[in-house]
Amino acid sequence: MAAEEKRPVLGIDLGGTKVLFGVVDKNGRVLTRLKVKSATTTSEEIVTQLVVGIEEIRRKSDKDIAAVGIGVPGTVDTGSGHVVATANLPLNDVPLGKRLTELCGLPVVVGNDVTLCTLGEAWYGAGAEVDDLFGIFIGTGIGGGIIIGGKLYAGAHGGSGEVGHIRVAQEGPVCGCGGTGCLESFASRTAIERDIRKAVEAGTVTVLAGAVRSGERLRSGMLRSALQEGDELVSGILAKAADLIGLGIANVVNVLDPEVVVVGGGLIEACGDFMMPIIVDSARPRMMKVYGEPASIVRSYLGDDAGIVGAAVIAKEALKARRPAGATAYVPQVEWLGAGEVQINGKRYTQDVLIRADGKVRKRPKKQAKRSSSDGAVLSIEEADAAIKGNARTLLVGTSTEHGLSVPEDVRSWLTKRDVRLLVAPGPQAVIEFKKLRGPRALLLHLRNQ
Ligand SMILES: [Zn+2]
Repeated sequence: MAAEEKRPVLGIDLGGTKVLFGVVDKNGRVLTRLKVKSATTTSEEIVTQLVVGIEEIRRKSDKDIAAVGIGVPGTVDTGSGHVVATANLPLNDVPLGKRLTELCGLPVVVGNDVTLCTLGEAWYGAGAEVDDLFGIFIGTGIGGGIIIGGKLYAGAHGGSGEVGHIRVAQEGPVCGCGGTGCLESFASRTAIERDIRKAVEAGTVTVLAGAVRSGERLRSGMLRSALQEGDELVSGILAKAADLIGLGIANVVNVLDPEVVVVGGGLIEACGDFMMPIIVDSARPRMMKVYGEPASIVRSYLGDDAGIVGAAVIAKEALKARRPAGATAYVPQVEWLGAGEVQINGKRYTQDVLIRADGKVRKRPKKQAKRSSSDGAVLSIEEADAAIKGNARTLLVGTSTEHGLSVPEDVRSWLTKRDVRLLVAPGPQAVIEFKKLRGPRALLLHLRNQ
């Protein structure tokens, strides 16, 4: 790695309502953040806002920034940094990359926002260890990105990944693209808002009625609050949307055969706890199981940071950085020492221990471990839930004692519902599997009866 490539870069996620700035280090970690409300009048106002933001975060972070990447919600000629058109910003036919380079004196690269979210996940998120990945992001609209062989697939005209416009019905509302039956016209936040408004006009009771009547925009956070209050209208509409998103994902999986599907975006950040199980339930039976394990469907790792981290990736690429080969940044080094003893990152453990998918190492919490009278220990749903934190796709349970740690049927089906694979094996084998597996995984080692 050349010295240039070790320097932090600046990622910018330019959205219709807010602009996020983030200084990102060589490992994809966001060091400093800045958030401002989007300028909405002219392209010049947006350029000025970006320049001011870049200067402010450079001062704030006090880091030697090597390059800038920007994600824009629209059609972009990535090579030249020319923004062709955007849907929700007055930014059309603007040589954004060139203008900003002149004004800031830094290399500036521009890309499509959703494409960059996918890149962010592919380098440093849910796809850091896989080569074939599909990303779908649900917010105001629905967009996607395709990574094949570790590289972004652009398509012949740069228009790949438009998953919002795959057809999930013969008929339906007219979509922004002019077609009917598009996934986006049924399941985007905009479509969900439209359906809630219609229902309120028809007299359906909902906690959002007041907001609808006042003409307020129904933000994703408001949908989450309505879910938390048990609002039947909102949960019904979101469930229908999630079901169609699952259908769309299954269609894509059957064509691309990716290893992982990452699901993210504002609506998922807010309502993913409710929507993800429905999405998985809808997609799984529709995915062909020709060659072994079908794709895993996981929630975005990077969440709101996906856009800035992805923008940082193209900034790094502009500096000719390479995707880290076989990236294992978040996987601790674990060695089985024998007789109920392991070494994790050089530290010895003789008590039950958990390595979470986010790389955190935790002693097994005793209060979560449910004891059975005859069989040693039993894994509870509560403990499984804690174990898969960080979006684990596989939970490995290793046991060293004769009776071991049993996993009851309710916990197994709970894990299946969350699309988490479970492997129970003797301790040494579980450690080997943990090292061999790729993708986010958790390892729970039962070293002695507590
Ligand atoms: Zn469409």
